[in-house]
Amino acid sequence: MEQARPHIVIHCAAFYGGIWINQLHPGRIFYENLVMGAHLMESARRGGVEKFVGIGTACSYPGYLEGVLKEADLWNGPVHESVMNYGLTKKMMAIQGWAYQKEYGFNALHLILTNLYGPRDTFHIRRAHVLPALIKKFVEAREQKAREVEVWGTGKPVREFLYVEDCAMGILLAAEKLKDPAPMNLGTGVGTSIRELVTEIQELTGYQGELRWDREKPDGQMMKVLDISRMKECLQWQSAVSLREGLQKTIAWYKEHKTQADLKE
Ligand code: GDP
Repeated sequence: MEQARPHIVIHCAAFYGGIWINQLHPGRIFYENLVMGAHLMESARRGGVEKFVGIGTACSYPGYLEGVLKEADLWNGPVHESVMNYGLTKKMMAIQGWAYQKEYGFNALHLILTNLYGPRDTFHIRRAHVLPALIKKFVEAREQKAREVEVWGTGKPVREFLYVEDCAMGILLAAEKLKDPAPMNLGTGVGTSIRELVTEIQELTGYQGELRWDREKPDGQMMKVLDISRMKECLQWQSAVSLREGLQKTIAWYKEHKTQADLKE
């Protein structure tokens, strides 16, 4: 902070991934995300940064709410136990921002994002979120003419998928236009069930074999879809890339960069 003297800091860094990494590294996820947020905001404050944009997560919402997740409900219940070590640490950034605003007049925003995807995502099976994990599985199954592909859980959970370029645009617009430090959702507002996602990726990769649902694998939170009314009003903007188009671009990128993509964990 002292050397670069930035006016604005956008804190996108996190140690996280799909549902499986959280089974492997629950402690590391807790510690790294907590200290990254706390130290970075403190350094930004000391370094005279004018605006801090914290990137939060839908995992911070209560885990058992009905319907889409509204900002007003952020504190209305316990976080889902499968992601609390991640969701709560990110949520602490919102509290830190609130407290720093009160004591130091520090300007911190908190954006709540959900499942992101696109070129350069992490496709490694231990770390990947569902969307890149399925792309990898179906592309490989097609290449190897595999008889079946394993998919996890019941297929019933509903998730929201935001394409990387839309995400970047949304963050920049929020950094520019959002004045209110209260946490704000940033997403598409569109829910897709895992079963629907599987069908879509299967079709786009041209895989014609069978599916095997592994019910031993966790479903996680059943519904993670954001209410985007406040975002639309504040930013006068909505995401532009449909799930189908985003999937096509991501599949094309993965096929072209498969060797290097498979190594990144
Ligand atoms: P979450 O959004 O934090 O719950 O994490 P994920 O993106 O990893 O998982 C979302 C949902 O997709 C869960 O219900 C998983 O069980 C389901 N799912 C189905 N197949 C897969 C897979 O191959 N990998 C992953 N990571 N999730 C899968």
